[in-house]
Amino acid sequence: MSDLFINLTTPNGHSYQQPTGLFINNEFVRASSGQTITTLDPATEKEIATVEAASAEDVDTAVRAAKAAFKAPSWKKLPATERGRLLVRLSELIEEKKELFASIDAWDNGMIGKTYELAMEDDLPDTIGTFRYYGGWADKSFGQTIETSPEKFAYTLRQPFGVVGQIIPWNFPLAIFAWKVAPALAAGNTVVIKAAEQTPLSILVMATLIKKAGFPPGVVNILNGYGREAGAALTEHPLIDKVSFTGSTTTGAQIMKSAAGQLKEIVLETGGKSPLIVFNDADIDQAVKWSHAGIMSNQGQICTATSRIFVQRDIYDRFLALFKERVRTASIIGDQWSPNTFQGPQVTRAQYDRVMHYINVGKSEGATVETGGEAFAGPDGKGFFVKPTTFTNVNSSMKIYKEEIFGPVGLIIPFDEEEDAIELANDTLYGLGAAVFTMNLRRGHRVAAEIEAGTVWLNSSQDSDHRIPFGGYKTSGVGRELGQAGFDAYTQVKAVHVNMGNDL
Ligand code: NAD
Repeated sequence: MSDLFINLTTPNGHSYQQPTGLFINNEFVRASSGQTITTLDPATEKEIATVEAASAEDVDTAVRAAKAAFKAPSWKKLPATERGRLLVRLSELIEEKKELFASIDAWDNGMIGKTYELAMEDDLPDTIGTFRYYGGWADKSFGQTIETSPEKFAYTLRQPFGVVGQIIPWNFPLAIFAWKVAPALAAGNTVVIKAAEQTPLSILVMATLIKKAGFPPGVVNILNGYGREAGAALTEHPLIDKVSFTGSTTTGAQIMKSAAGQLKEIVLETGGKSPLIVFNDADIDQAVKWSHAGIMSNQGQICTATSRIFVQRDIYDRFLALFKERVRTASIIGDQWSPNTFQGPQVTRAQYDRVMHYINVGKSEGATVETGGEAFAGPDGKGFFVKPTTFTNVNSSMKIYKEEIFGPVGLIIPFDEEEDAIELANDTLYGLGAAVFTMNLRRGHRVAAEIEAGTVWLNSSQDSDHRIPFGGYKTSGVGRELGQAGFDAYTQVKAVHVNMGNDL
């Protein structure tokens, strides 16, 4: 075993070899600068492992490898059906190791403040399903034939861009990896992807499966590294033809600027402050259940978390009482490994500090704390736990109303009429998700059409499916992932004009 693998055993008993290098050309290599990333279990604050962190020089090596792979016959001439077969094979290999993957991400993210159960039921099926789904798309992409005159016609080809640079966050490391890598490969691109520095482990195990599945060297290159150095070097690299980013709106704006010099194609999936509207004709028990899950699951670390809950005034008091009861009975805080745990730790101390800061700002702005409002003491006083927090008496000038907190902090706000609810829901710079609870079909569809968001849930929250396009309005993003839209985003259209006669 090379020194770029270490033996680890997860707290729930999976022993495995953890790669620690940068994955370039199907090999693990050391970082040129000697920089590293050390990752912690956020429930215990104990170190798990240290991995290599890419410098700008390493990014250059990876991009050049991806460029060479894009031009090589082993990828360029590979029939689309064979590309699809490789993706399906990868999905099978991931499935064989799904308990290990879920365990690593639960540990590292805890991660992600994520419980093992959530990783198993949500993140892994999404990851496996996405690779399988885009494996199916690879050979189902067609151009068009367009007649223009009796002697002329044109046809279109859908072609890959070349090398795609991809940057992902920590909150669903494997699923977001799949959302980006699977469609890019299905369309025939090659990839350099940078994981988030908070969760560097599972993606390196994924790298071993890329090789095992049979992808040629250089087709998928995987780097850990810091955003300002490795991330910036990737987005600025002249051989990168397209950038796809998921993370905060602030970083997304920087990436847009750095892509501007070369007019690079971009996809940005960024932040949110998503509304959830409960009308007085809703099934109130369902509305309470979904609105609790919509803001409190994954510790509130979901880009589409429905953090602003608007409730029609005549059912407001009843809803609030039921919501508080739901928090009391369902938001069980604990470590990642207990099946009873609903809420684990925030991913890092920085994220915990950020959430606690917002909670204190909310109090000082005069909002009323209905639940939580403070940290939760983990075992031995360790761990980045925050109690599920609910604020009322909130208004639209407050920071906690306007800004994304990315933690288990929900606001409950009354409204009077349907038009008021729509106005409140749209009163944000963001536009990622929105939920509407009503038993009135006409109203549900009417409001769904009026809300400025890339996704609207009628009588649910947070549903996500690799067959369905996903993305943001306003500052929540540019472009779409998943579904056919997600595949098309990794292709460009070429028009070929054909003259069969002698006319000009
Ligand atoms: P972040 O923007 O700080 O980091 C995300 C990624 O960008 C990381 O890999 C980081 O290393 C990299 N990065 C940081 N600075 C960079 C730079 N200057 N150039 C290039 N790359 C850089 O985001 P975060 O705080 O880690 O993640 C949480 C945010 O992600 C939240 O705002 C959340 O809403 C958003 N998010 C959005 C979606 C979506 O699909 N819309 C999904 C998950 C998370």
